Amino acid sequence: MIKPGCWTVAPRILIVDDEKTIRLILRRILHKDGYQVIEANNGEQCLEICQKQLADMVLLDAMMPEMDGFTCCAKLHQLLGENSPPVLMITVLDDQASVDLAFQVGATDYITKPIHWAVLRQRVRRLLQTQWAMRELRRQIEKERMLSEKLEKANQELERLASLDSLTMIANRRNFEKFIESEWKRSYKNGLPLSIIMCDVDFFKAYNDTYGHQAGDTCLKKIADLIVQNVNRSPDLVARYGGEEFVVVLPETDLQGAVYVAEKICKSIKDAAIVHQGSKISNCVTVSCGVATRTSLSWNTDSNSQPSDLIKEADSALYEAKSQGRNRVYSYSIN
Ligand code: GH3
Ligand code: MG
Ligand code: MG
Repeated sequence: MIKPGCWTVAPRILIVDDEKTIRLILRRILHKDGYQVIEANNGEQCLEICQKQLADMVLLDAMMPEMDGFTCCAKLHQLLGENSPPVLMITVLDDQASVDLAFQVGATDYITKPIHWAVLRQRVRRLLQTQWAMRELRRQIEKERMLSEKLEKANQELERLASLDSLTMIANRRNFEKFIESEWKRSYKNGLPLSIIMCDVDFFKAYNDTYGHQAGDTCLKKIADLIVQNVNRSPDLVARYGGEEFVVVLPETDLQGAVYVAEKICKSIKDAAIVHQGSKISNCVTVSCGVATRTSLSWNTDSNSQPSDLIKEADSALYEAKSQGRNRVYSYSIN
């Protein structure tokens, strides 16, 4: 049995000829060589069979009534494009014009009648070898495409995870620093306000000392969730700044807006009533917040300042909130 290339099953050859005797002879020869054979006696049938992807190659008679082989071959390529099986055209015509036309309509090769059987067998074999190699190449390309798609997704996921804090699953410090840098530039360029809230858990050391480090971790997760729930606009970012300190970036938000958000955060954490017997100001967990803003106008007068200046301001406002008794919001312009 002939298996050109590495066909795992015998390739299927479609014989398209209006003459039954030719079909019979072809079938016998191809069978002898181990191929599977399908027959069609006109162009329409050939198209139908090929559309069902049943043929690995086509032996196509050029001269047939109704639809000749040239038209049939052209239609086949119109319908199936690069999925069209290779076509070996069989023709009594070997004048220049017919040969040119055969290749023009997409035939892969041609052979003239009367058929030289040894030549036919070699041509069939070669065409099937090429067909197998083409399919294999396409399969490889598709495999590589899928692999690189997977790799791309994995990289994206890695990038996402690298930007998250592993305990609370909110943005980490690195992510915050990148974000504030780009928001700083955007706000400066467009003259938009930009605010940040620094938020620190009150007496958290005592919480760990009372309930243990694991309970402390659970508490930090709850607090992160509560902060996220109170920060609703899409350009905002909530990040873990470090330890039991969180930072909220509020682009396009003035001081009043930021203080409003900070108050909501304080209230919702108090309302969550996470028991904290070690706190000196309450019997449940509370936070203190420091707010700082660059207003639309301040960009003109304060063009030299840096994101780190805004962070320092929020930090000292937080310090003020702590020294004024904790569980509160402090900002220099409003208080
Ligand atoms: P203050 O009200 O002044 O903020 O007091 P505090 O006790 O919260 O502040 P301090 O800076 O003294 O202590 C912070 C504590 O937060 C100490 C540290 O053990 C705890 N902490 C920091 N990061 C983590 C963490 O990832 N998990 C847990 N469980 N505790 C943490
Ligand atoms: Mg603290
Ligand atoms: Mg702290």
